[in-house]
Amino acid sequence: MAFHNRIDPRRARFIRTEARKLTIQFWRRNKKFYPGPNGHLNLLPFEPKLIAEGVLGLSFDEPWELGFSNYAGALQVELAGQLDRPNRQISIARKFSAEIRRFTAAHEIGHFILHRERNLFRESPLTDPAIWRPATRPELEANIFAAELLMPSKILRDLFVRRFPAPIDVCKIDDNDAVMLTNGHLMPSELRAKPLQEIAEIVANASSFVSGDQRTLTDIFGVSRAAMGIQFRDLGLIRRSA
Ligand SMILES: [Zn+2]
Repeated sequence: MAFHNRIDPRRARFIRTEARKLTIQFWRRNKKFYPGPNGHLNLLPFEPKLIAEGVLGLSFDEPWELGFSNYAGALQVELAGQLDRPNRQISIARKFSAEIRRFTAAHEIGHFILHRERNLFRESPLTDPAIWRPATRPELEANIFAAELLMPSKILRDLFVRRFPAPIDVCKIDDNDAVMLTNGHLMPSELRAKPLQEIAEIVANASSFVSGDQRTLTDIFGVSRAAMGIQFRDLGLIRRSA
């Protein structure tokens, strides 16, 4: 269920480049360089609010809640975020966790950059696995944008290979890897048999194999395991060889 299976690769590259351009603009405006290999740990997690206000000149409103919306006359859904283009305003409901608020805000910025033909976007919380099966193309695109804004490929790759020996081919997970990743709860064969997304989420939430930093990558980037698992798979950091 990774993104790359469901979108034209050129369009995906374009979306990631747009997100990267925004991040670079942000660091330039703050008279800092785009964080390099040794400079990013204290600059994470990225806060989309700073980019919305500082680079795009949007207002960023954080009320406790945003109410409910009817989608297609069906269920009432509680809203977590909204983009109001005519008023140049993003609103994010404060009642949700920092992870959800961060991803939802980055997703709204994605709509702002990518979907200029539409004036209003309203979202339920971008957290549960349902977000990875978005109903429409714009929702999928805004998720890819958000993933790249919050977990820039270059920085994530760099931190990944410093923490884990190499991109992980799940077919080659051995005894050592299984112990490191699951504290010995699973045998290598049990781990290898799991769905790729589930293994990716275990890695996202695992302590480093090699470095002294005990924080997980999800802690460092301030995103959910599901979000990071998808990003690992899209970047080829976790894969299953044929
Ligand atoms: Zn959306």
